[in-house]
Amino acid sequence: EDPAIDHVFIEFADVNGISRSKQLTADAFLEKWADGFAMNLVLLAQTPRNHVPEGSGLGAEIGHADGTVHPIPETTMRLPWRENAVRVLCRFFHEDERLACSPRAVLESVLSANDFGFDFYAGSELEFYLLEETPDGEFTPATDDNHECVSWATEEVAGFYDRIVDWAGDYGIDLTALHHEHGPGQLEVLFDYGRPLEQADTTFDFKRLVKQAGRSFDQWPTFMAKPFDDRSGSGYHLHVSAFDDEKNVFETADAGDADGTLSERGRHFVGGLMDHADALAALGTPSINGFKRFEPNSFAPYTASWGYDNRMTAVRVPPGVVRTETRIASADANPYLVIAGTIAAGLDGLRRELEPPTPTTGDPTDDRPVLPRSPEVALRALETDDAMVDLLGEDVVRVYAASKRRELEAFRNHVTDWERDQYVKTV
Ligand code: GLU
Ligand code: MG
Ligand code: MG
Repeated sequence: EDPAIDHVFIEFADVNGISRSKQLTADAFLEKWADGFAMNLVLLAQTPRNHVPEGSGLGAEIGHADGTVHPIPETTMRLPWRENAVRVLCRFFHEDERLACSPRAVLESVLSANDFGFDFYAGSELEFYLLEETPDGEFTPATDDNHECVSWATEEVAGFYDRIVDWAGDYGIDLTALHHEHGPGQLEVLFDYGRPLEQADTTFDFKRLVKQAGRSFDQWPTFMAKPFDDRSGSGYHLHVSAFDDEKNVFETADAGDADGTLSERGRHFVGGLMDHADALAALGTPSINGFKRFEPNSFAPYTASWGYDNRMTAVRVPPGVVRTETRIASADANPYLVIAGTIAAGLDGLRRELEPPTPTTGDPTDDRPVLPRSPEVALRALETDDAMVDLLGEDVVRVYAASKRRELEAFRNHVTDWERDQYVKTV
């Protein structure tokens, strides 16, 4: 009702975590917001390039019907890059029922399955490349190629970072740090942790505002998992802790305990993460590109392993406040589904009191089972993981798998330069 607001964007995350929105005039919004707005259901299931999957149950099967999106008033936020516009996140309904496959609904449902009497907290760490497009359509890093991890190269992107800091403040996101990562032009910007649903919203918003900030400098920030063969990939590390009032549930009270750090519940949580690591790879690696990030002997995981302060494992228990840092997801993953999947896997470990394998010290490459190296293998692992399907819901697994298989099909039909290079002259 603020007269300065002329436009309202109604926004939601699709299963791939991509932000979708429509722009309404403030008058049109105010007139109809209590009833919701029509939205094509299949938008939730489309691939990043808008291929429409078969078998999601949201497309041709129902004649590409509309659902309704209902604004969540408390998520209304002024868009920092616009004088006169706000956005509001929405819940997705079909025929008066909340759509169980919508990512925010999936996370809410996993959180409501926690009957242990303690609260989870989540903290996202995202890496991304800041790239510039050359006139011939190549992408080059926005910082000098010679820069090292945690180098002063951040000074080369000071304007871009200042813009993010500024906008994040308007979005209510508390940024805490910036550093240059291993790849040229690869950055990591940290923000405060929080309750899982709020943290998922924050992570989703953060990605949106980083992309937008890049555009104002004619740059392309990308959360693509592995933009360059010989450069490090971009990870989405997720920290999860659990507190019962002030008490850290994952921390042992007995310093002389087996390993002196994780409590029994903490171990069970890790046991769940290990047991469901392949399903987490499916949820955390939404692109065929992302599987190229899983390399042995790197800071990206390769095996379903865990360890104390061990960056080579899939799950690291970092020093400091006792918590888990799951390193499986790539930066392009959907934050709602990564947080939902990680907590679901941990909850199953807690319910079944799963003991994790021995923590790895050093390189886990030869110690532990290798994570899926291909999307099809990962998707099958997710679909056949009964506990995860049960906690996340069959609907989202079906819709997500359909979306991913449609993308794979598009890729399979594309003959790459690499193939021509390998075969034209040789066979
Ligand atoms: N870039 C690595 C990844 O893909 C992580 C590096 C780090 O530990 O910050 O997960
Ligand atoms: Mg990092
Ligand atoms: Mg990390």
